[in-house]
Amino acid sequence: MCEICDARPKIQSPVWQRRDLMRAFAGGAAAFVLPACETTTNPETGRGQFIIVSDEQMSQAALQAWAQVRQQTPAWNNRAAQDRLRRVGMRVAQGAGRASQAWEFELFDSPQKNAFVLPGNKVGFYRGLYEMSERDDWMATVLGHEVGHVTGRHAAERYSREAATQTVLQVAGSQINSQIAMAALGLGAQFGLSLPFSREQESEADILGLNYMHAAGFDVKQAIPFWGAMSAGGGSRPPEFISTHPDPTTRIERIRGHINSQGWGPA
Ligand SMILES: [Zn+2]
Repeated sequence: MCEICDARPKIQSPVWQRRDLMRAFAGGAAAFVLPACETTTNPETGRGQFIIVSDEQMSQAALQAWAQVRQQTPAWNNRAAQDRLRRVGMRVAQGAGRASQAWEFELFDSPQKNAFVLPGNKVGFYRGLYEMSERDDWMATVLGHEVGHVTGRHAAERYSREAATQTVLQVAGSQINSQIAMAALGLGAQFGLSLPFSREQESEADILGLNYMHAAGFDVKQAIPFWGAMSAGGGSRPPEFISTHPDPTTRIERIRGHINSQGWGPA
C-alpha cells in the first residue's frame, strides 16, 4: 500500500457552491500570463517546473478547503498523540529549513492509514496511520514526504498542468480556475475531476522527505521497514491509484538506492 497522499479529504454534501469557491479566490486572483513553455527552476530540487499559479493563490484556495475538512472530519482528541505529531512534524520542517514558517499538524479520528498535505503547510494525519507509527522515525518518514510535496510545489504544478489543458482557462484568462484548484488540492471528486500526484512527484516527495529526515537527525533507514509495513498491511488498493502511485517494491528500492548513494547506509 502506498496511499500516503491518496487521501482525498472527503467533502460531503453540501458540496462547495461555485460562488463560495469564487469568493475563496476573490482578491487572490492575480494576472498570470506566461508563455506555455516557460518553466521555473525549483531550488529545492533543481527541476524545472511549469507553474502558472502563485504559492499564495494555492494557499488561499487551501485555507477554505482545510477549514472544510476540519469541520467534517472529527479531530482525534488525544493530547499526547497530537503533541507528538507536532513535535516530530516541526523537527522535519526544521530539517527542511522551513521552521520559521507556520505549520499545522492535525490528527483526525479515522482508521485510515493515510495522511495528506495542503498548500499553506497544513498536514492531516489519520489515527490509523498514527497507531502503526510506533517509532518517531516512521512518523517522520510520512511527514518528510508531506513536507516534500510542499517544497516541491506539487499542488501548484498539478494545477498548472491541468489548467494548461483546459480551454476554459483561455476564456478565464487571468483568473485562477477554482474547479481545477480544488482538484489539484485533492478535493475535486465532486466535480468529476481528480488529480492525483504523479509518480514523479510521489517519488520526488519520498527523496526530499529522506533528506529532511536526515537533516533532522532521524534514522532514514527506518523508511524501508515503514514502507514494508504499509505494503503488508495495505489490503486492496482502489484500482485508480495503481496507475498513478509507485509500486511499493519500486518505491522501497528507490529509497534504498538514495540512502546508499548519500552514504547513509548501508540500507
Ligand atoms: Zn504523496
